[in-house]
Order: sequence, then C-alpha cells, then structure tokens
Amino acid sequence: MKKANLIMLGAPGSGKGTRASAICEVLGIIQVSTGDLFRSNLKAGTPLGKEAESYMNKGELVPDGVTAAMVKERLLQPDAKGGFVLDGFPRTVGQAKLLEEMLAQMGERICAVLYLDVPESELVKRISGRLVCRGCQASFHKDYNPPKVAGVCDKCGGELYTRDDDKPETVKNRLKVFEQNTLPLVDYYRQKGLIVELPPELSPKGALGDMRELCSKWGLVRE
Ligand code: ADP
Ligand code: ZN
Repeated sequence: MKKANLIMLGAPGSGKGTRASAICEVLGIIQVSTGDLFRSNLKAGTPLGKEAESYMNKGELVPDGVTAAMVKERLLQPDAKGGFVLDGFPRTVGQAKLLEEMLAQMGERICAVLYLDVPESELVKRISGRLVCRGCQASFHKDYNPPKVAGVCDKCGGELYTRDDDKPETVKNRLKVFEQNTLPLVDYYRQKGLIVELPPELSPKGALGDMRELCSKWGLVRE
C-alpha cells in the first residue's frame, strides 16, 4: 500500500472536513484539522487559543508561523507516521512552503492534494445550515445532512451547535479570504502535478463509500 500523506483543499463549506474524516476512516490514518485544533485550544483557554481567537472571530487567517508551528507539533506525534490528511492547511502559499520545509526535515512529502471545487452560491447555503458536534467535531447540516435526532451527534451523542464564525458577516469574509489567499494554491500544486479533483457529486451521506471507491482507484487501499 502506498503511504498516504494528503492535503484536502477546498473553500469553507466545501465539505472538506466531512471528506477528510471519511478518507481517514477508510485508510486508518489521522486527520489534522487546523480549525479543530484552534477551536480546542480556544476552548481550553491556552495562549495559542487566545492568540487565534481574534482572527477567527473576524474570519481572518491566523498568522502563518503560528499555524505552521501548531501543525508541525501534531505531525511529530507518533500516530502521524502512518500517514495523514491535512484539513484546512495549508491555506496560503507561505504555509505551503513552510509545510514543504517541515516535511523535508521529517523525510516525508505530500502524495496528493485533493481539491473540492464547489460554487460560491452552494458554499453559502451549506455554511448557513451547518451544525458541529461539541464532542467529536463531526459536522452536520440541518437540511442536507440532518442528524437522526435533532441537536444530537449521530457519532458520539454530543451536543450540536452553530460555530460563532458561521454567522453571515464572518462567512462573507472567510470566502473572500479563501479566494484571495487559498485559491492560488490550486495552481501552485497543479504545477507540481499533485492536484486530484474530487467529483462534486459526492453526497455527505455517501462520503464513506465514495471515498473508499476513490482511494481504491488510487491504489491507496489494502484489499
Ligand atoms: P472553514 O474551512 O469552514 O472556514 P476551519 O474550521 O477550517 O473552517 O477554520 C476556522 C478558522 O480557523 C479560520 O477562519 C481561521 O481563522 C482559522 N484557521 C484554520 N486553519 C487555518 C490556517 N491554515 N491558517 C490560518 N488560519 C486558519
Ligand atoms: Zn460527536
């Protein structure tokens, strides 16, 4: 089996978190979500959480150096050795370069960048109905991917809530920041021959089956 060090690239609301967790389940590798890492630091009141808070509340990016250091710490843990999916990182060309440096130091590299290209009108609809689990961070949508019991996570029974930065004013800014800072990464990685476009028709419910099929097509699954 090829070792999978992957990046999941997509706008806020593109479904990259859902997709990333499906891949991790299929391949038995870890998901590294910078958004989740920042949110848990925030909840725990760490200095890193306090630093990230003001940026997150405005829908701005946390500075590259701070974000990259947090990712590096995570990737140095033993469970990352088996492969990983980066979800929400890198988000700028600067972060992509920092990532290359840290992986080179570890004797690792990225095998593929999975790109979800979703139209903006669809992104707004998806974000505005999004619900996230306080326990395991799984994400649901009130119309497109409703939990079996309202307000309760299917996976762990945790409480579902609406993220502070999912309010309309912040969402607009996050989409603008994505277009200006993150979209250039598609060309950056395309030039390196790493971009794999994920089919847009993937449904939230079918994510696991769809990802299993794709991973097997790419030779990433032991069968
Ligand atoms: P989404 O992709 O839906 O916008 P995330 O949970 O990935 O949500 O990120 C939430 C917020 O966390 C971002 O708006 C930003 O403030 C911060 N953040 C997450 N990842 C990064 C990153 N790689 N670089 C800088 N800031 C980040
Ligand atoms: Zn949960």
